[in-house]
Amino acid sequence: MNKIDFLSLKKCNLPYEEEIKRVVCDVIESGWYLNGKNIATLEQKVAEVAQTQFCVACSNGLDALRLIFRAYIEMGVMQEGDEVIVPANTYIASILAVTDNRLKPIFVEPSEKTMNIDIDKIESAITPRTRAVMVVHLYGNPCWDEKLNILAKRHGVKIIEDNAQAIGAVAHCNGLHGTAVTGGLGDASGFSFYPTKNIGAFGDAGAVTTNDEKLYQTVKALVNYGTDRRYHNLYAGLNCRMDEIQAAILLVKLKHLDEISAERQKKALIYDAEIKNSLIVKPIINKNEKQVWHQYEIRVTERRDEFREFLAVNGVATDIHYAVPPHLQPCYKEFSHLDLPITEHMANTLVSLPIAESVSENDIHEIANIVNKFV
Ligand SMILES: *Cc1c(COP(=O)(O)O)cnc(C)c1O
Repeated sequence: MNKIDFLSLKKCNLPYEEEIKRVVCDVIESGWYLNGKNIATLEQKVAEVAQTQFCVACSNGLDALRLIFRAYIEMGVMQEGDEVIVPANTYIASILAVTDNRLKPIFVEPSEKTMNIDIDKIESAITPRTRAVMVVHLYGNPCWDEKLNILAKRHGVKIIEDNAQAIGAVAHCNGLHGTAVTGGLGDASGFSFYPTKNIGAFGDAGAVTTNDEKLYQTVKALVNYGTDRRYHNLYAGLNCRMDEIQAAILLVKLKHLDEISAERQKKALIYDAEIKNSLIVKPIINKNEKQVWHQYEIRVTERRDEFREFLAVNGVATDIHYAVPPHLQPCYKEFSHLDLPITEHMANTLVSLPIAESVSENDIHEIANIVNKFV
């Protein structure tokens, strides 16, 4: 029996291994490990991907989002206790970025269809304290609608994108900014290059993109102790820099972004065509968007544990993203009373099927076949 891992980072990185070894050696030999040319080039490349004017490389995806909120606080746009509308079913890091800045997350349920925040439920969650809406392009599926832009302008709130799972995705919109690429849709966006993400570093790494020059300058200073010029600390900042080594590695992988996205799209299409099981709800394929399939999330409406066990016995490893929603985590007891039935239902029925580069197309056919045998 063929054993199929959920994800093998070693296998995912194998095609780039020789080139990565070379660029890492170059950094070692250069004697320059932070704030160097690899960071400058990476910032330029990520800004190109997001079609934004500015990018700041940083330590990880959580810090990217934390830095955006912190910068808005330093700029006087937000203050302690202000509200940020967030999807209730996101990965906890999106929420941690809000609460770490003493802002208040206002949880909004996802649409069961898209699994992203239900855009139609956002307006009724807006209060006089709302300063931002955070959209999370969960599982690599763009969360966007031009009416969100109109809504944000009308209420004077910022749109912040959590683009940790969706680098290279394209939303379906006429693009009031002239672009529809995730990471360039809102006022600011946070990226993650955590090793398992579509473009993963060999450790932690992240980035902020924006077209707002003031925000850019503030984030740029905050990542580096709040220093705006040498020996001058404008803010009581942080140290959230990315290493030159990670930037050099990411530059190698970023060249292959289109292939990586295309490979995942192809696999999603195979699953979509071949999975035929009335117990399984498949994710929506939106032909008007470019979805980049960070995860392929099915919902198993009954007997999920049995389903996962059945796949495991047949050699297929699966995962759950995410088993416990943020409002039910022990660190967020103050939110545990919230009534979020769609979020909780999703947490109880989701299953992630393998889709990474370490899984072959043949494996995908085989997995679909096994899924269809579950009765
Ligand atoms: C991974 C992830 C983050 C956090 O990124 P890190 O680099 O792990 O800190 C934030 N939001 C979402 C949706 C993520 O998937």
